[in-house]
Amino acid sequence: MNGVRVRFAPSPTGFFHIGGARTALFNWLYARHTGGTFILRIEDTDSERDRPEFLDVIIRGLRWLGLDWDEGPDVGGEYGPYFQSQRANVYSAHIEMLKNSGYAYERDGALYFRVSGEPQIIHDLIRGDVVRKEEKDFVIVRSNGTPVFHLVNVVDDMLMKVTHVIRGEDHLSNTSKHVELFKAFFVTPPLFAHIPLILKSNGSGKMSKRDVGALVEGYEADHFIATAVRNYLCLLGWSPKEDREILPIDEIIRLFDVKDVNKNNARFDEKKMAFFNGEYLKAMPLDDFCAIALPILKNSNIAIEKFDSSYVRDVLGICQKKLRSLGELPDFVDYFFTEEIIYDGEVLKKLLAKCDAKARISEFKCAFENLPSVDEKSVESLVHVLANSNGINSGEYIHSVRFALSGRSVGPSFFGLVRVFGKSRAISRLRGSLTVFD
Ligand code: GLU
Repeated sequence: MNGVRVRFAPSPTGFFHIGGARTALFNWLYARHTGGTFILRIEDTDSERDRPEFLDVIIRGLRWLGLDWDEGPDVGGEYGPYFQSQRANVYSAHIEMLKNSGYAYERDGALYFRVSGEPQIIHDLIRGDVVRKEEKDFVIVRSNGTPVFHLVNVVDDMLMKVTHVIRGEDHLSNTSKHVELFKAFFVTPPLFAHIPLILKSNGSGKMSKRDVGALVEGYEADHFIATAVRNYLCLLGWSPKEDREILPIDEIIRLFDVKDVNKNNARFDEKKMAFFNGEYLKAMPLDDFCAIALPILKNSNIAIEKFDSSYVRDVLGICQKKLRSLGELPDFVDYFFTEEIIYDGEVLKKLLAKCDAKARISEFKCAFENLPSVDEKSVESLVHVLANSNGINSGEYIHSVRFALSGRSVGPSFFGLVRVFGKSRAISRLRGSLTVFD
């Protein structure tokens, strides 16, 4: 490991916002890119609000995203404890130092830091040198005796030998205070990198925890693929260039450098995230896809245990390429596992506005009954022959028959659908569907 030491320093609040996840990710990428150390430090000094279960959400989210830390909770390290709530004596010692050196003084029961009145240069790898001046002395220990964020954050970065502080832009306004504090402890401040905010998809302000798609735990609950979410988060403020977007994490680690992070705010695009997820699903070997899809089906109301595992695998095989999220899977496949098809009235209305669906289904059924094999190629040529000889667009057959077999207008590939049902099941569904038109 070389000298780079970076940290993610969340304050546990009970949820894990994608802004925080992106900050963790950029720190992790930089540590892995440089062969440095990634530290997880828990800023749990707000004892009123902090609860152990709040921390679990973050730890779980980081693990889910595959962001492993080299020092911190569970793994330990030379510079612990890594919970600020366990470092009170460290802070007291440093408060004493500031008092003794004349940098701290008491007023109205609180302890103040004496600012220099000099402009401070913040070396920011993303923004260049930023100059800010602290005009007023500020509180470092409240009158109730608790040290404030600025102090504990700086003391820990100093003692944990952090070389690069990579954090959200909202902290830029604190940084001149921090630089003054580092100097008061006679240490050179670390380099900084303030990463841009994440705006809502319509650009109307910062993503808040209430916005759709804002929480990491929501993606896990909706069965998103963690590597897809991680890949998407990498692009919120950084780009591998050359129009590449979907790429393996090893490649991202190789290309990522914090100095290349954008100054401009990033915009969160929920649709793009779903698109990424769909691409990751498509790229999976079928065995892997089945391994994650089966538990989801088992937990839904679908009775897959009544069907052969090879049939279930066939169903998943034709659906894999069409899904954007596994959360949609039960709804997407339910009709494969029941003979009680629910014919969607709206879909029927639209279908009838376009064609004589009953006639198309009957024509298809007649020809299909005589088809020796129902593999995809044979059914495809059957549809072409029917369309040509009747002077009808083949789409009319496809839409009508899909509706007859599934009750829906969308689903997996049509020819795959027919093949997976097989001849006799398809015929009985075709026959059954005709009553819908009466
Ligand atoms: N606990 C602070 C936060 O969650 C950390 C700030 C920093 O990274 O320095 O915003």
